[in-house]
Amino acid sequence: MSLKRIQIPSPNYSSRGGATVRLIVLHTAEGARTIQELGSFFANPSSQVSSHTGADDTPNTVGEYVRPDGKAWTAANANPVAVQIELCAFAAWTAQEWDRHPNMLANCAAWVAEESARFGVPITRLNASQAQGSGRGVCQHVDLGSWGGGHHDCGSAFPMDRVLSMAKGGGDEMGYPDWFWDWVEWQMTTTQDPAERPKDAPATIPDWAWDGQKKIQNRVAYRYGMTGDERAWVDWYLGQRHPEDRPPNVPSTIPERWWTDEAWVLARD
Ligand SMILES: [Zn+2]
Repeated sequence: MSLKRIQIPSPNYSSRGGATVRLIVLHTAEGARTIQELGSFFANPSSQVSSHTGADDTPNTVGEYVRPDGKAWTAANANPVAVQIELCAFAAWTAQEWDRHPNMLANCAAWVAEESARFGVPITRLNASQAQGSGRGVCQHVDLGSWGGGHHDCGSAFPMDRVLSMAKGGGDEMGYPDWFWDWVEWQMTTTQDPAERPKDAPATIPDWAWDGQKKIQNRVAYRYGMTGDERAWVDWYLGQRHPEDRPPNVPSTIPERWWTDEAWVLARD
């Protein structure tokens, strides 16, 4: 599902002058609390600043102020080679405060993924020398140093690795954010009472989280119960075993566990 981009055009932009985008840069807006508030600031010609995009807590939505092919004005010398987003947040936020904004982090991650695909920039975290050199990837404003205007956002508690892991589609289990596990537990082991829904889980669960949940469910089912495929095989095996009726998704070598289950079903019957 692609991000909804609300257009609030800013007059504060110019041409990239032929430069190729190699940086995806993350900022905190340090003032605006919504993408609309940020948009009206950038819409004022006298502010002389802009960014391509802004993110707040609105599910699966960002504000777009400068088209990606234009040069936004927010990171000095880095602007020609950067596509940039402002989080409606503050660099002084604690880790706990960032955790209270799962939609904002999910929006940022989804935007990083879309811009990565647009410009062919890898979702790789750059250090300061890579960002200020010729590295291609994702960085924060602080990584651009004085070359990029000498700012310190997004702050030391910003969960950069978590955002990049989400942008990459979740990666392996170890890359999942904390809310993911709470949400999976709520999904799989409860009656899914909305009042009990983990408060840090975004309102719109991203596709990577649904995929992850399914993967975990399949593994749990494989270990502790029968999957649909195994059940079909057991039924077939205990029946007439016509080769043409063999269920299509059964592995050619039957796992040890399936034989145990088959014996168990046979004994039960
Ligand atoms: Zn900044």
